[in-house]
Amino acid sequence: MPVFQTQNALQIELKKAQNQSKKIGFVPTMGALHMGHLSLLEESLSENEITVLSIFVNPTQFNNADDLNKYPRTLEKDVELVNKLNKNIFIYAPSVSDIYEGNTVSASFDYDGLEHQMEGKHRPGHFDGVGTIVKKLFEIVKPTNAYFGEKDFQQLQIVRKLVSKHKIPVNVIPCKIYRETSGLAMSSRNERLSEKARNESKLIHKILLEAKDKFRLKSAKKVSQFVVSEFNKHKNFTLEYFEIAEEETLLTCKRKIKNKNYRGFIAVFIENIRLIDNISLK
Ligand code: AMP
Repeated sequence: MPVFQTQNALQIELKKAQNQSKKIGFVPTMGALHMGHLSLLEESLSENEITVLSIFVNPTQFNNADDLNKYPRTLEKDVELVNKLNKNIFIYAPSVSDIYEGNTVSASFDYDGLEHQMEGKHRPGHFDGVGTIVKKLFEIVKPTNAYFGEKDFQQLQIVRKLVSKHKIPVNVIPCKIYRETSGLAMSSRNERLSEKARNESKLIHKILLEAKDKFRLKSAKKVSQFVVSEFNKHKNFTLEYFEIAEEETLLTCKRKIKNKNYRGFIAVFIENIRLIDNISLK
């Protein structure tokens, strides 16, 4: 399958599938693919007749120019990896102008407050950029099912909200976090870590597991204090936030309410690289 660089070229091929009412699975990514991305592709392959992967480093969701410039771009390697998994995957790797047509700005979105929590507080404009690109890509691909990782749990909830508010006919399918054997959540940003930092970063998941254990008996406040104190012991990490939030609303847990599901969310810097992770506290 060739790599499609324009929406027109992609749509010509997809039309054939749509005319035959084939199920289309869609996995949007920013590339620098790893096993986490491949696990989403595998899920899509098993549930759809056609799988489309997009690879696009979306400028409007970066609130930091340096982060955008340094984001790894490895298209050739990505294509090789995808072809090894399955030769029939449609890869859409557009240019910025194919997507934004000379107007590289975000629309603004109201996600009923989900956008004001955690990542939204620390990355102003990020979720407007996410909404803009996801909506555009859904309009181009018109997927039956779209696959999003729980690694970016807040993004997953934002996309669900986008789909329900804009009545977009697509099923949003959540996919489990894929981890390295050390427990570190796979991320394209891990590639930028030194070997030493990558090894030390297993601490993030270890502390999340301890937090989960403590949350059975302790308050959210006490667990948060524990996480802060743990990171204080490790000076090469800078904790940006640790938050225990309710899964639907993403509101901070002040008092545990029975039958609500909570998650611990974390953002932490090591070697100036920002890593995020989360864990279900059920
Ligand atoms: P990204 O390329 O980082 O924008 O990620 C593209 C998609 O892959 C998003 O839905 C992510 O949540 C998902 N993803 C990234 N890393 C992982 C992982 N370790 N496990 C599962 N899904 C992931």
